[in-house]
Amino acid sequence: MLLARVALPVPLGQVFTYSVSAELAASVRRGARVLCELGRRKVLGVVLEVGDREPDIPVEKLKPVRAVVDAEPVLPEELLGFLQEIARYYVAPVGEVMELALPALERSAALAIEAPESTRAVGRLVQIARAVEGATAPSLRGKAPAVFEHLRDNGPQPLTALEAKWPSARGAVARLVEAGVVTLEKREEAVDPFTVAVAPDVPPALTAAQARAVTAITARLERGEKHAVLLEGVTASGKTEVYLRAAERALALERGVIVLVPEIALTPQLVARFRARLGSRLAVLHSGLGERERHAMWRSLRSGEVRIAVGARSALFAPVRALGLVCVDEEHDGSFKQEEGVRYHARDMALLRAHRAEAVCVLGSATPSATSVELARSGRLELLELPLRARAGSALPKAEVVDLRRMGPGPGGERLISVPLFRALEACVAAREQAILFLNRRGFSPSILCAACGKIAECPNCAVALTLHRARGGRLVCHYCDYQEPMRKACRSCGEEALIEEGAGTERIESVLAEILPGARIARLDRDVAAGQKSERILDRMRQGDIDVLVGTQMVTKGHDLPNVTLVGVLNADAALSLPDFRAAERTFQLLVQVAGRAGRGETPGRVLIQTWQPDHPAIVLAMKHDVKGFVAQELEQRREVGYPPFARLALVRFEATDDELARSQAARLAHAARGLGSPDVEVLGPTAAPLARLRGRYRHRFLVRSTDRARLHQVLLGVARSAVDRRVRMAIDVDPVSML
Ligand code: ADP
Ligand code: ZN
Repeated sequence: MLLARVALPVPLGQVFTYSVSAELAASVRRGARVLCELGRRKVLGVVLEVGDREPDIPVEKLKPVRAVVDAEPVLPEELLGFLQEIARYYVAPVGEVMELALPALERSAALAIEAPESTRAVGRLVQIARAVEGATAPSLRGKAPAVFEHLRDNGPQPLTALEAKWPSARGAVARLVEAGVVTLEKREEAVDPFTVAVAPDVPPALTAAQARAVTAITARLERGEKHAVLLEGVTASGKTEVYLRAAERALALERGVIVLVPEIALTPQLVARFRARLGSRLAVLHSGLGERERHAMWRSLRSGEVRIAVGARSALFAPVRALGLVCVDEEHDGSFKQEEGVRYHARDMALLRAHRAEAVCVLGSATPSATSVELARSGRLELLELPLRARAGSALPKAEVVDLRRMGPGPGGERLISVPLFRALEACVAAREQAILFLNRRGFSPSILCAACGKIAECPNCAVALTLHRARGGRLVCHYCDYQEPMRKACRSCGEEALIEEGAGTERIESVLAEILPGARIARLDRDVAAGQKSERILDRMRQGDIDVLVGTQMVTKGHDLPNVTLVGVLNADAALSLPDFRAAERTFQLLVQVAGRAGRGETPGRVLIQTWQPDHPAIVLAMKHDVKGFVAQELEQRREVGYPPFARLALVRFEATDDELARSQAARLAHAARGLGSPDVEVLGPTAAPLARLRGRYRHRFLVRSTDRARLHQVLLGVARSAVDRRVRMAIDVDPVSML
């Protein structure tokens, strides 16, 4: 009897076995999607294996594969094998890993159930609702009028987008269609995501260092050899130009390209540069896309019509054909780590995918991670350096420290805008140049303190202080779970009306600046103002010179190329140093060098003011000198001494439950079991309560597993993953954790 082993999108580790009828035998193939039953549900899965191996369960209990959805494998073999390796590496359910590469899987299941006999590729069809021209809102009950207005005001929308907004949208649309004011059509055609044209650019003559890097990369491409490179280039040294030349070469050799960038906000700029050089045939993938766009992009890559994918970490799973080059820009960036579901690191996995595909992987950064530097040192990455800025005459900016311990509050009474910083801002604005101020805290005040009893207003769901946001009409907001309430009048603990707004976030800085720099055009860029498109608008205004001073969170530190910015101020350099995390110093250092790198990219030299309470901290001292090598060398030395990555491998095993004691006891039980499994080479540390002890109403405990031996660590994690855990407790294994919270 023919059997299929199928990965289903469920959070269970195992692969499921189904029988295959004679009728379907020819079409059930590895990589094809099939419709199966799981309990009473019909789900779509991806076939991993077909064979007549003895099943683990009696044949009469096997359910049959109900239908085959794809005539062609939905995933190319290269990608499928890569996904299976990811599942193994991260001890993650293979079905969930498949979902990373097939975002439309669930929706396709619904369609496939409607037409189970169909064997054509489904999931391509998108239902688009459109308000009938000139129709007026019908008097219908429920969400129908709201849905109608939304369609009238925003134009045609995919049904899935409406459903994301209103769970009952499908019914509402049906009633609107019946009332004759909305039409519903099924569409298959691809969408052109590019609304504005980009003129072709003139490639600059490469600098000597760029030319060497390009040659090293393209030589491997030409020979079709797999290779991995660390491209260490100071800010504005022209790393992007190197990616462009390498991509051009790869395309000429009919190989595909993936370019990963850390932030959606960065994608449009990079995409514009790629389009200007390589034309419009590239797919842009990021979380801000609608289902329909995402699907169109995915299909054009799968078919080979488009050969380049650019995007945030999920673009790693783009079904690019004949992959030849993977570039990871700002490889040190923490956002390459996915922190929920399958906790993968896109940079690490980019190396793996490129390796398996016999492709070249380029990791680029001005501040490479300690991990990558160690890989280069041990010869597993080739180090290519761009030590100077690319534009003639552009030098790295001069950095000065402002010792906050010796400063009183500056003008406007704000400590974080010191007198030296204020003077520099005035001079900058007067010279019609631009300034960027960086503060890693959004909102108005990071905490609300009761002066009578000393209590801080906390989130009811999380063990964190609520942040006051003025912009949202005076609300207290939790930055971890998005809980909100109106600003309190009195303290919840003692009832006194003695609440003090403590500290400053970007909102407060923005409003103080407006006061003390009258006439200057101030803008703010952080997650509160920056839903995708909007951040691009703010950066556009900055580029066009419509903003004098831009205040923001780390969104302002990343990769932007703004030639008229001559002043960069870091308001509180120590903010990230105190986090309970072995990478705190590394992160602080990278952040400072990156944000400093935003200054003086044009002809006018830049100036950087770093405000700190700890001017002697090595991360700050070395960042001031742009001493990347010095910092990393010292950091690696310390990590080696204490046995932290990259000199050991870590995994965090987290336990979360609404009952504190239950989470704690399960963590203790599994930690004990892990010790029992372990060899002397594997250490189990803990359990302990997590630094962020409660999140979204769940108490959090964890233990850490550490080893220098990857295979042994993996064995222990497998044992943990297979252990039974109380149903009320969520257990998650985080291999190579980035956030230690
Ligand atoms: P990075 O990615 O290293 O931060 P970019 O690629 O953004 O640097 O380059 C910084 C600036 O220098 C850009 O405006 C880019 O157009 C310019 N540039 C890059 N390479 C050259 C070159 N060889 N000659 C002149 N300008 C260059
Ligand atoms: Zn919360």
